[in-house]
Amino acid sequence: MSEFDTKLVHGKPQNDNHTGAVNVPIYNSSTYIYPSVEAKIPYDYSRSGNPTRNYLEDQVAELENGYRGFAFSSGSAAIHGVLSIFSPGDHIIIGKEIYGGTFRLINEFLKRWQLEFTAVDTQDPKEVEAAIQPNTKAIYFESFTNPLLHVTSVKATSEIAKKHNILTIVDNTFLTPYLQRPLDLGADIVLHSATKYLGGHSDVIAGIAVAKDEKIADRLYFNQNSIGAVLSPEDSSLVRRGIQTLAVRMDRHLSNAQKIVEFLQSRPEISKIYYPGILGSRNYEIAKEETDGFGGIVSFELKDGLDSTKFVEGTKLIQLAVSLGAVESLIELPYKMTHAELSPEDQLKAGITHQLVRLSVGIEDPKDLINDLAQSLDKLEK
Ligand code: PLP
Repeated sequence: MSEFDTKLVHGKPQNDNHTGAVNVPIYNSSTYIYPSVEAKIPYDYSRSGNPTRNYLEDQVAELENGYRGFAFSSGSAAIHGVLSIFSPGDHIIIGKEIYGGTFRLINEFLKRWQLEFTAVDTQDPKEVEAAIQPNTKAIYFESFTNPLLHVTSVKATSEIAKKHNILTIVDNTFLTPYLQRPLDLGADIVLHSATKYLGGHSDVIAGIAVAKDEKIADRLYFNQNSIGAVLSPEDSSLVRRGIQTLAVRMDRHLSNAQKIVEFLQSRPEISKIYYPGILGSRNYEIAKEETDGFGGIVSFELKDGLDSTKFVEGTKLIQLAVSLGAVESLIELPYKMTHAELSPEDQLKAGITHQLVRLSVGIEDPKDLINDLAQSLDKLEK
């Protein structure tokens, strides 16, 4: 058994091509030859199975210590595929700060199919347990939330779930298996927007789900194959390549994020910083126990009266864009961009103020990032 960083680079050995290619080829074939009508063949049709996609699925399953992985055409498709294992009348507890697109899927789509949901603060195990009903089938949450980086204990939550015989589903997009392996901590399904750190280069939209055991895997496979939102061979290859450099990228994201937090702490324009690596919070305590690093996303609030729009429009190297987890740094204003769908009241309830900025820290030289933030802060009218 190789160490984790070696597994990232090598994946499973692949000897199935005729050329000796080091990397798995992009198999652009929609269909496969049957040697005879009765033949049992490993691939018959690419929605049901494709060697390039299967390579990626095995790669991520191994990194997450799961039984089997499934690659979808987006993170949202992965979430849909996972939540579609439930039936009308089933109840699912969800984290109250999950990704907005997941809320949209739940409120405007899945509820139409009579699935029931209750949103709770999953950081508080008592709230989770109190929400359990006789028809509760799962708890779904993000281990680090967006954009306020609240941390939920996968261990504590999955212990409650096990006691009540329900599934734990974790969106591990912000951490990746390099920093946390939720299945090892007790979860049953882990999923990702592979658009973010797994792909890592802002050049692909992709999703992954990994099941801990065969029974759950069979249900996920049925959904993946019958709903059909599979990842293309080309995009599977891009995510596979991204994963090979995950360790070195994440190490740099982490060290850059730490330096930027220290810089922000030194600036009088900043009133609050949200980063689980800052000592003294419940987030820090949980993250220290259950992760191998505090992630590459830093959110912070500018002091009242400072123009947050001018600030995010004023960075030159750091680009103004949604999404996160790529080599280049991206900045955004949640209340106007990623969380604009929430009503002003809901934004306020969720802690999304007009002064809140989210920074996805890239892997550039940290001096350049700090200089860029500094010049934009300097330009604000005090
Ligand atoms: N989960 C999280 C935590 C996300 O941040 C996102 C997208 O931003 C998604 C899921 C959805 O992924 P995708 O955009 O690949 O559909």
